[in-house]
Amino acid sequence: MPTLDKNINDLKVLISEEEIQKKLVELAKSIENVFPKDEVIYVICVLKGSTMFTVDLVKHFNNPIQMEFIRISSYGHEQKSSNNLQAIDLTLPNLHEKNVLIVEDIIDTGLTARFLTDLFKIKHHPKKLVFTSLLNKKCARQIEIEPDFYGFEIDDKFVVGYGLDYKGYFRNLPYIGYFPQ
Ligand code: 5GP
Repeated sequence: MPTLDKNINDLKVLISEEEIQKKLVELAKSIENVFPKDEVIYVICVLKGSTMFTVDLVKHFNNPIQMEFIRISSYGHEQKSSNNLQAIDLTLPNLHEKNVLIVEDIIDTGLTARFLTDLFKIKHHPKKLVFTSLLNKKCARQIEIEPDFYGFEIDDKFVVGYGLDYKGYFRNLPYIGYFPQ
């Protein structure tokens, strides 16, 4: 078990639980509008960070939903963004000509978003592919990519909570916070 060198009492709230939940209602409505009414949407939850976001978001959809899960691994340093990404635990159904929504926790450098969208386009040929992330660190981007939808734009600080972790901890917090330097 990784040792926890951060104290929850030092954590500052960046986005409250109330703000997140309110935003999800708007976001779900906007996302659903771009998919054909009543058609199945395959929602792809990118483990582990987007679990909270995905389960709360899908509660607001009216279209029929299938939930799928994917894990991404990177060779090299775990805490750093990497160009060497690989999809693991890939037990996805046939998504050819299906409506697909990829749900990410945060877009930072943009490398993971690029990897995921390329993977789904090239391997699965969906009818419609939409990418959403809860958080968007626009200022940290290393490549040109934007999500179709996002919840909040944030500064270039390391955040935890609502699925996002530090050494595996803090995912269970209902809000997004950060440790001031
Ligand atoms: P990328 O740099 O490829 O856009 O982001 C890759 C992944 O890094 C994200 O999906 C997320 O898991 C992680 N990440 C990026 N920024 C943060 C952050 O501020 N906090 C946490 N906990 N993870 C982050």
